[in-house]
Amino acid sequence: MTKPQPRGDGSVDVLDGRVIRLGARVVCDAWESDCPYRVQTHIHDDHMAGFETSTGLQDLIMSPATFDLLVAERNAALPYRDNIHRIPYGEPHDLDDGSTLLLQNANHMLGSSQVALTLPNGVRVGYSGDFGWPLDSIMEVDELVVDSTYGSPESIRRYSQGDAESALLELVFERLRHGPVHVVAFRGTIERVVQVLAEVTEPIMASEGLIRTLSVYRQNGLALPDVEDVASDAGRHAEALGRYVRLYTKGDALGNAEASGTKIVCRAFSRERPVETFSDRSHRVGLSNHADFEETMAFIEGTGARRVVTDNTRGHGVELAFAIRERWPHVKAEPRPYSA
Ligand SMILES: [Zn+2]
Repeated sequence: MTKPQPRGDGSVDVLDGRVIRLGARVVCDAWESDCPYRVQTHIHDDHMAGFETSTGLQDLIMSPATFDLLVAERNAALPYRDNIHRIPYGEPHDLDDGSTLLLQNANHMLGSSQVALTLPNGVRVGYSGDFGWPLDSIMEVDELVVDSTYGSPESIRRYSQGDAESALLELVFERLRHGPVHVVAFRGTIERVVQVLAEVTEPIMASEGLIRTLSVYRQNGLALPDVEDVASDAGRHAEALGRYVRLYTKGDALGNAEASGTKIVCRAFSRERPVETFSDRSHRVGLSNHADFEETMAFIEGTGARRVVTDNTRGHGVELAFAIRERWPHVKAEPRPYSA
């Protein structure tokens, strides 16, 4: 259960357990007993708290692609529920209390959404969800809950995501000359890796579960190269030849990848350069589906919000709120919950 907390003085809040509250009747990415609506911004595990409870007791709202990914990964029974509402980006959806909900692309992974809610009193509130950069459009709201993953002013990358993608491709080409290449990334990022590797002529291999997810991406319009199932005849043949790229994401056992080739972890870490090299067989590439600090500030400015609650669930909310107050003194900014 969520612990009672002192309320903020506005219409948006973040309660313990990352309960993002928009007005009195909508929560995002959480179960809350007194809220009839749950908006699901995307399918990463840290946003799925209480999902099974919500499917039984709340109306669920999400983008069609998020729905497709949930069906592929979690629960084949979802299509038969009438309390799940698939709302395309940019199409306003009226709730029964007179408020209106709008989802916009958050560029974090397939289906990820910014959530804007216009309350019956006309106040516009919103939640960024996890978001990448750049964005095609930024929601306009009066009050905002913003993800603070890279909310520290230390979190500035001095290279673009295009630089990171080019560096990844170059590194994979180079290391394939020495044997298999094992690439590890979060869901959402691993699909970007597949796109980047379209020019690779050696077989690309993945688990059956990841291949099922990739098929959802294709259904939603992404052009991706063929990926072989590691357990198939073609997969086993490629493995025996020793020239292939193997992809790993949540749920895939990595085994002893470095012993049989090169391991590349795709995760933003270094501020200065897109590739960090630990040894010939171990590298990290700064692919990230999260905005960095300055991009987060640009997002906040783009929303026009006059009150900003920084989601302090994973830390950095305090630094981000301080930076907002310093840069824009007219904006009221506060971290919630107060202790991460
Ligand atoms: Zn996420």
